[in-house]
Amino acid sequence: MRAKYVVKEKQAFRCQLCPHLCLLRTGSTGICGVRKADDEGVVSLNYGRISAVQVDPIEKKPLARFMPGTWTYSIGSYGCNLSCPYCQNYQIAREIPSTSKMTSEDVVSNAIKHGLPSISFTYNEPIVSFEFVLETAKLAKENGLSTIMVTNGYINREPLYELLPVIDAMNIDLKSFREESYRHICGGSLKPVMKTIEESVKNCQVEITTLLVTGMHTKIELQEMIEWLASISRDIPLHISRYFPHYQYHEPPTPVEDVIEIGKMASDHLRYVYTGNI
Ligand code: SF4
Repeated sequence: MRAKYVVKEKQAFRCQLCPHLCLLRTGSTGICGVRKADDEGVVSLNYGRISAVQVDPIEKKPLARFMPGTWTYSIGSYGCNLSCPYCQNYQIAREIPSTSKMTSEDVVSNAIKHGLPSISFTYNEPIVSFEFVLETAKLAKENGLSTIMVTNGYINREPLYELLPVIDAMNIDLKSFREESYRHICGGSLKPVMKTIEESVKNCQVEITTLLVTGMHTKIELQEMIEWLASISRDIPLHISRYFPHYQYHEPPTPVEDVIEIGKMASDHLRYVYTGNI
């Protein structure tokens, strides 16, 4: 499948899907590992390649205030445009797992067959499956299903605007409220994620997840983050999640008291705060 949001620049192609803006020469692959240039443009390598299919409670996404009590047909592919060393799903985000081929029609008809009211694009980063997610979400909407993305929000404005009309809810990771942390720890940047949150809130149900990674945040930073969310809307649900060592990050788990303390701090500003993994 040809990738969208690609422009030709001299002897190479510029991918404009996410803020990395990778410049790809024939044979090279972007930072996400799933968009590769050939002589004619860029190909989406993970189009229709599904690494995981599950039926999950919607609260597991996590979404607390969108279709509560329902189950959702959840699919993941592979690839990610950030590189967090504590990645909870690195086997499909940073590596190429075994996959099976599915069409958008397969996904939608399976969800309907199981009597499920929604489809979730989750597990790895759905932004890097842009073409498949867009096509499947459109078909899902035509068939009366709701659509959900669980995402890092690291996407450029134009492709985001193309997705928003067919997405009903998102859980967006807000990993930190410091540019340096986004840059040095996750290989991205904060500003585009803030923009995604601001724009998405106007168009669909948005809930935020912050994983409290040991050694990554300060209290002042978290206070600023919470106040910024509240300045958009006090009704944005915030999920504060406890970290456990994973992948290449070996700091001890977040103390439970810290999760509870930040949860209380958030409750002073936001109406819906949830603490998880404790
Ligand atoms: S989607 Fe992938 S190839 Fe495109 S700019 Fe982002 S990381 Fe680079």
